[in-house]
Amino acid sequence: MMEEHSVENMTLSQPMPLSQDSFQQLWESVCAPSISTIPTGNVNYASTDMLLLDEQELTNRFDEHLLFELPSDMTAKDGVTPPGPTVPVTTDYPGEYGFQLRFQKSGTAKSVTSTYSELLNKLYCQLAKTSLIEVLVGKEPPQGAILRATAVYKKTEHVAEVVRRCPHHQNEDVTDNRSHLIRVEGSQRALYFEDPHTKRQSVTVPYEPPQLGSEMTTILLSFMCNSSCMGGMNRRPILTILTLETPEGLVLGRRCFEVRVCACPGRDRKTEEENSTKMQSGTKQTKKRKSAPAPDTHTTVKKSKSASSAEEEDKDVFVLHVRGRERYEWLKKINDGLELLDKDNKNKSSTSTKHEVPLPSTGKRLLQRGERSDSD
Ligand SMILES: [Zn+2]
Repeated sequence: MMEEHSVENMTLSQPMPLSQDSFQQLWESVCAPSISTIPTGNVNYASTDMLLLDEQELTNRFDEHLLFELPSDMTAKDGVTPPGPTVPVTTDYPGEYGFQLRFQKSGTAKSVTSTYSELLNKLYCQLAKTSLIEVLVGKEPPQGAILRATAVYKKTEHVAEVVRRCPHHQNEDVTDNRSHLIRVEGSQRALYFEDPHTKRQSVTVPYEPPQLGSEMTTILLSFMCNSSCMGGMNRRPILTILTLETPEGLVLGRRCFEVRVCACPGRDRKTEEENSTKMQSGTKQTKKRKSAPAPDTHTTVKKSKSASSAEEEDKDVFVLHVRGRERYEWLKKINDGLELLDKDNKNKSSTSTKHEVPLPSTGKRLLQRGERSDSD
């Protein structure tokens, strides 16, 4: 009933003003909304632009760190000693003890055997050379806490594979832990583990509180294969995960960093840092290029109605098949008209460039210079 009533009201009140409108007004009122919806191309561009952005964000977010966040949350909530996770967690987690790492500032000299890039969160070191890593905590961890180092492949497509030394380096070694990539140096209490289920290897060392007058504990790690070792890492980047754990293996804090084992750590760090800075400025440029076409087409569509520069961008010639001579003559007339318009616009713009004055202000300036004879 309510609806019928309102519809009646409309039909009673609306015809009056409409019937008093001129055809021109009516036409404009009908046309206005449809004209504003004509550039549907722009809407499409906008949405593809957003799609691009979304993709970019997706790829930005789709890294291992986020992939592996879930298991870490689960272990934290459950509060139960977890069996070794199938895929190690690689998110930084300072935890309630404020677990942090600090690396020596060794620079990028040629002779350097181990150097850390803060820019890339990446350690560059030579095969079997010691890297000094400082461990900091905000408060004393529980008695018997341990530090554990595990290596994992960085890229998603490799992450399922366990990181081990290459066959060549394993064969020429005679120690018990010869298959382990990461070693803890300078400690008799280092223990080497291999998870019976996942076969992932790790090395632990008891956490030692800082010595008197020092704020941090130092651990010494060495990597026993080159990143390029065939049959081993085989040029696949790795992450090293350092965890602070209770004696039962409950994770209290975690820090991750990438590692590259190579012949020239200083040189490689320098090169990769430079490339990364280039890449970042490069992606900014490509981002600009990607988003640029949308506003450009906006302006082209608007300009082509009035301004002259549009046809410079749109010189492509299209062939249109028309059925029937009459229709063809009609369309030809329209096209001829448009061509004439273009010529006219070109002439106007060429005269304006002769004066070297922007079009709209040409007349005024001429007048101001006192050349009254032109118009007066
Ligand atoms: Zn090797």
